[in-house]
Amino acid sequence: MESAEKKAVRQHLEMEDFFSGGLSVKSKNKQPPAEPARSTDYIAAELEKIAEEVRRCCKCGLGSSRTNAVPGEGNPAARIVFVGEGPGADEDAQGRPFVGRAGQLLDRIITAMGLNRSDVYICNVLKCRPPDNRDPKPEEIISCLPYLQRQIEMINPEIIVALGAHAARALLDNNKSIGQLRGIFHEYYPCLGKAPIKLMATFHPAYLLRNYSHESRQKVWEDMKKVLEALGLPIPQRDKG
Ligand code: URA
Repeated sequence: MESAEKKAVRQHLEMEDFFSGGLSVKSKNKQPPAEPARSTDYIAAELEKIAEEVRRCCKCGLGSSRTNAVPGEGNPAARIVFVGEGPGADEDAQGRPFVGRAGQLLDRIITAMGLNRSDVYICNVLKCRPPDNRDPKPEEIISCLPYLQRQIEMINPEIIVALGAHAARALLDNNKSIGQLRGIFHEYYPCLGKAPIKLMATFHPAYLLRNYSHESRQKVWEDMKKVLEALGLPIPQRDKG
């Protein structure tokens, strides 16, 4: 079923088409006009501006409990953006995303895909650590989400990989379980008039660490193979682990 957001985007595009003289409401297959390419240096500078705002942010209570904000890091020209839930203790201490045990596993997943951490961009929905690693509160997600939306809009990746249910739900604006969401491509709408970005949800590396079964690892690998295939990248033979 078409979500309210998708409907709003479609209606906006149809309206634009109608009023710009297209008259026939045919915009279902119509792509928004191509934007002029932005240089990697420009994107890097804009991402740094967002990071500075994040470091100064006190929009929710996490601003006073964090040690360091964790804006995100990686390649400004990344084809893939990985999005986690929120920083843990190691990330809070270092101000960098996915540097603890879950991060080491994410690094292994990225390596298994034939990529390096420096090829991709890595960030979280929440930019500050929730105390005791509790789940993000809705009001924290609402305060923080615009930073992530701006990062995605700036990088404009071909694929977003949402790590775990919290990231997938925040980006897709639904309440489904990770079991329902993973394994298929969804569409993330960056903003009105922009083409949707493919989103693949998969299990969070921290979940994999807690459930280190062949089955759960295999499911993540199946999801990542779909990402590689969609990008036209070779699928490396995977050794066990
Ligand atoms: N878990 C997350 O969701 N993000 C991190 O940066 C680290 C652990």
